[in-house]
Amino acid sequence: MRQNRAVIKVDPYALKRMRGHAQHREEDLEAGGVLLGRHLRDVVDVVVDDVTEPLEGDAQGRTFFKRLEGHQSLVDAAWRRSKGTCVYLGEWHTHPEDTPNPSRIDRVDWLRRLREDVVDAESLFFVIVGRVDVRAWEGVRGQTKLFHCKEIR
Ligand SMILES: [Zn+2]
Repeated sequence: MRQNRAVIKVDPYALKRMRGHAQHREEDLEAGGVLLGRHLRDVVDVVVDDVTEPLEGDAQGRTFFKRLEGHQSLVDAAWRRSKGTCVYLGEWHTHPEDTPNPSRIDRVDWLRRLREDVVDAESLFFVIVGRVDVRAWEGVRGQTKLFHCKEIR
């Protein structure tokens, strides 16, 4: 059982793009996408270099977002372009609250991804973009507890 919490570092431009979807207005829809980047060697920390944003065909509502297959194509393309160094790290989505917390549905969805997603990594990362704060959690395979990441920077 791991005790230390991961640090997630997000490229400033990628962070800006996610924050650009923050749900400030009543009519803003939930947005999301995938996190792309690198696991740092010998530590549990990760660097998010890039993100995908909502694509045509994604299902967006006030409090739900479901991405479709287009995102996977972008993940595959990034992986090829980087010769295998840029990988799928997890998911992000927005919440219409200042300091976001995962909903029950989020937790169920994240744990399902940890069971079912086919990736080499031991863990996946989940970012929620609130109106003020951006927070992240790490899920570790085989565990049902989610770790709140130390910080996003
Ligand atoms: Zn959510």
